[in-house]
Amino acid sequence: MAETILKVENLNKSYGKKHVLHDINFQVDKGEVVTLLGPSGSGKSTLIRTINGLEDYQSGSIYFQGEKIIPNEKNLQQLRQKIGMVFQSYDLFPNLTVLANITLGPVKVQKRDSKEVTDEAHRLLKVVGLDEYADSYPRQLSGGQKQRVAIVRALALHPEFMLFDEVTASLDPEMVRGVLDIIVDLAKTDHMTMIVVTHEMNFAKQIADRVVFLENGKILEQTPSDQFFSNPTTDRAKQFLDSMD
Ligand code: ADP
Ligand code: MG
Repeated sequence: MAETILKVENLNKSYGKKHVLHDINFQVDKGEVVTLLGPSGSGKSTLIRTINGLEDYQSGSIYFQGEKIIPNEKNLQQLRQKIGMVFQSYDLFPNLTVLANITLGPVKVQKRDSKEVTDEAHRLLKVVGLDEYADSYPRQLSGGQKQRVAIVRALALHPEFMLFDEVTASLDPEMVRGVLDIIVDLAKTDHMTMIVVTHEMNFAKQIADRVVFLENGKILEQTPSDQFFSNPTTDRAKQFLDSMD
């Protein structure tokens, strides 16, 4: 039996009176890539943020490796080091170099050896083709380059689980592939466990083991990727896929 990394049970979340996530149930096993698809406003980002302890929730449970994720709890910071997250907007620290952006967390929070972390940062930057920018500042980088640095920064913390929320949505088209390729490589070569939210359907097809399809804050279907893209269970998912062509 595969080890369960994440388990979400009967999760309900509201913003004020607005009920945004309804009875969400799903799990992610070790090494699995789950793609979260659904129209804009369906609750994908809210679900990702709630999983990472960035949002509170009203009922239900979220377990990461068997441990309950409760916002504002003391164990949250520790837990979050095991979950890497990359958003749509580049959230690099503008006043730090690329290298310092990457090494800050591992050295300051995880108390790892500075030399070792720096060596690893250079190695990861080489993998994404950006080692020559180690001493540059974020403003000197293109959007695609910043997103690659953001991914490296997340990976430098040695996460056991990655969350990607539309990481290419604000990139120029010619920048998209370079970022997606890094994620594909993480999935296929490193077998990283991840949830990926994307509007890039070819990428979703390429990477997903399973698709969780969300609409209006409800999971309409959870289907193995091959089946979802060839013959989804719900009419709503069919319409969605047609609209993405
Ligand atoms: P998606 O990522 O699928 O586009 P979101 O999770 O961003 O969807 O949004 C789901 C719903 O929650 C939307 O109706 C959105 O307007 C609402 N929402 C998202 N963030 C907030 C917030 N901070 N406060 C109030 N409503 C929000
Ligand atoms: Mg979103």
